[in-house]
Amino acid sequence: MPMPKVSGDLLASRKVCVIGAGMAGLAATRELRGEGHAVTVLEQSGDVGGQWLYDPRTDDADPLGAIVPVRVHSSAYASLRLLSPREANGFSGFQFEPRHDVPGRDVRRFPGHREMQRFLRDFSDAFGLTDAIRFGTKVVRVAMAPAPRQCDDGDATPKWVVRSIDADETAEVEEVFDAVVVATGHYSQPRLPSIDGMAEWQRRQLHSHSYRVPEPFRDEVVVVVGCGDSGRDIALDILAVAKEVHLTAKSTEAAMTAAMCKTLARHANLRLRPQVVRMFADGTLVFADGSRMVADSVIYCTGYWYSFPFLDTAGVVAVDEHNRVGPLFEHTFPPSLAPWLSFVGVPRMVPVPWYFEAQGRWIAQVLSGRRTLPPELEMARAVEEHYRARELAGVPKECNHDIEPLKVFEIGEKYCDLPRVEEWKRELMESISRNFNDDMETFRDRVDEDSENVRKWLDMWYDSSAKADRDQEQEPAAAGATMASSL
Ligand SMILES: Cc1cc2nc3c(=O)[nH]c(=O)nc-3n(C[C@H](O)[C@H](O)[C@H](O)COP(=O)(O)OP(=O)(O)OC[C@H]3O[C@@H](n4cnc5c(N)ncnc54)[C@H](O)[C@@H]3O)c2cc1C
Repeated sequence: MPMPKVSGDLLASRKVCVIGAGMAGLAATRELRGEGHAVTVLEQSGDVGGQWLYDPRTDDADPLGAIVPVRVHSSAYASLRLLSPREANGFSGFQFEPRHDVPGRDVRRFPGHREMQRFLRDFSDAFGLTDAIRFGTKVVRVAMAPAPRQCDDGDATPKWVVRSIDADETAEVEEVFDAVVVATGHYSQPRLPSIDGMAEWQRRQLHSHSYRVPEPFRDEVVVVVGCGDSGRDIALDILAVAKEVHLTAKSTEAAMTAAMCKTLARHANLRLRPQVVRMFADGTLVFADGSRMVADSVIYCTGYWYSFPFLDTAGVVAVDEHNRVGPLFEHTFPPSLAPWLSFVGVPRMVPVPWYFEAQGRWIAQVLSGRRTLPPELEMARAVEEHYRARELAGVPKECNHDIEPLKVFEIGEKYCDLPRVEEWKRELMESISRNFNDDMETFRDRVDEDSENVRKWLDMWYDSSAKADRDQEQEPAAAGATMASSL
């Protein structure tokens, strides 16, 4: 591939290893290849999609997910549907359009996990990324190459040795790369609460990571610990078969939204309770308000740890007790190892895949020399300042990687010229959020309430989609190129 020139200089093409072929890894790979880098993606599963690659298996020997690393990656359950609308989950130049042209595809605005995975595969195929992915390859160690190897090819930049094993865990391979991009996700390693008596409790307890279907909970009294997205979703999933479901929240006042009131009024077998503070071997649970009950099962929907068990940076990058990955400049580059080690997908509360594309583009451009990073000390200082500013603002350390709404699009503007997500999509997200706050059980299927502006854009969106379908019928080979090149 010819190298583009910047200010008369040739841009560098690096040998880059991307770890993970989920949404973040795929977004980064397209950017890296577009910038002329030679990319190898190492993916432990047999297909792309990451969390969206549903795996009916769970680790029965470790339902709490206490072992690091967990043996099953995806935390998706059978009934999982997107919380965000498909219109908000497309890539630049490759929107998540309903595929009416392919039988059996899920064309709903909030499709199920299978459709999301198929979309990611469509994306990977349309941009020729799949041929860069080595499936069934699990990375077990990433470390800086010892000094002598750095000079093997006369290049003074540090190199990384990536050790991986195949799916059967028989063949181990070591390869050397100029740069490593970590895109391994952060919804797999369960984070458990510490409740008095939890270890003595004899009945079923599992983390939401190990929840798949409601049937095992038929006629049971189930306590779902944690009232976040997964807790609410799983409680509703189990309601239909369970005798009673008790959903616990840190603050029942905060959890008692209009939508929650509606749901509680609708289901006589659902109750909202305060936190569990004590568990007894006989199945008794005591709640923060002193009330107690006997339960058959407890499901902890209490979030996940960032976890990079393969990463050996001699302590330079670590996950602290507050679940902060650091130090990371703009949640992407460890200052002293930049740009040779980077992370895509650490931030939370961001529009994806847009944010992953921005990180990938920034990394690609820094590696090629198109852009430069601030000096190491400046980046390190920026990380410290970020920590201090968040602390002064009263943000819990656990929320370090939650990006504030007003800062979400800064990465595109400051570092890589990626245009913001279109205004109409933000308008759509706001109206969906209003629907969610009104009724969390029906919001996904309230599709006829779009504003005039959103409808106008959607019509244009569907028009272009229909045109692509027509083109495909007439000229199959050209249609993929139309979608892929409209970046
Ligand atoms: C239950 C649930 C519901 C969600 N709902 C939504 C939603 O509605 N909307 C939304 O935007 N987001 C949602 N998310 C978040 C979603 O996971 C992210 O949007 C996004 O898919 C994360 O992509 P990722 O590539 O960062 O990580 P992942 O999807 O986790 O992909 C990481 C990849 O890295 C691979 N990998 C990990 N370790 C190794 C290794 N050592 N060697 C090789 N490969 C490795 C994994 O196999 C995987 O393929 C949800 C998450 C969960 C768990």
